[in-house]
Amino acid sequence: TRRPLAGRVAVVTGASSGIGAATAEHLAELGARVALLARREERLERLAKEIEGTGGTALPLGVDLTDEAAVNAAAGRIAGELGQADLVFNNAGVMLSSAVDSGEMDLWRRQLDLNAGGVLHVVSAFVPQLLRSAAEKGVADLFNISSVAATGVYPKFSVYSATKAFVSHLSANLRAELGPRDVRVTALEPGIVGTELQSHVTDEGALEWLAGTRRQHAWLEAGDIASTVGFLATLPPRVNVRHLAVTPTGQV
Ligand code: NDP
Repeated sequence: TRRPLAGRVAVVTGASSGIGAATAEHLAELGARVALLARREERLERLAKEIEGTGGTALPLGVDLTDEAAVNAAAGRIAGELGQADLVFNNAGVMLSSAVDSGEMDLWRRQLDLNAGGVLHVVSAFVPQLLRSAAEKGVADLFNISSVAATGVYPKFSVYSATKAFVSHLSANLRAELGPRDVRVTALEPGIVGTELQSHVTDEGALEWLAGTRRQHAWLEAGDIASTVGFLATLPPRVNVRHLAVTPTGQV
């Protein structure tokens, strides 16, 4: 089998389910050594065993990404045990529905703390490794997961959408700083993908809207985003896709 990512060290956050799990598995298939980060360690360990069972290398690390010190500690372990990261998939995130007049500051804060704060912890912890990898290997990738919600308007998902706008705009600016230093930065903007993400939605209207989209069109599968990341990571190092919207064909 072709292993175009042999020799590369990939870090995937939110690797315990959905898009992150599928992408970690795919990057390992392509030959990368992968670090798996999320809170549910038993899931990470199971995925690591699967990857190792097919001849890959995986390091499961139970980390709450809202904890800056824990993210920094994980970065140190990865550099020591797998080698310096040269690909980071900044993927963990949570989508909660909440009407603007609900005053559910706790739900708003959870999304800000992970989707914006966690993303920044990962940037802070791993950009030094990406820069060193780029200097040594001539290639490094930072994939930040945004959403079509970054530019669309989704009632009951205003805070979620705003966190994704943060990720897209942050990525564009990071790219301007890092691109000239050989680190590619991509904001991935998926449409609806069937994962555990939707299981945290509680608002009745939002649930109905989600169910309605499922009647109208097929949703993407996590593997569709995994193969997109694999495609981007295997482009020649001179090619940087800055942002990419990937949606179900039937999604308006
Ligand atoms: P999942 O709910 O399946 O995955 C979310 C991942 O984030 C899990 O692995 C979860 O693991 C992890 N996570 C949550 N909280 C934390 C935390 N505090 N610390 C560490 N890890 C955490 O959803 P998806 O795979 O769909 O979501 C992945 C990303 O894709 C998200 O950023 C989402 O916003 C984005 N996205 C998803 C779309 C979709 O339709 N599904 C569309 C557009 C973007 P654990 O609970 O074990 O910590």
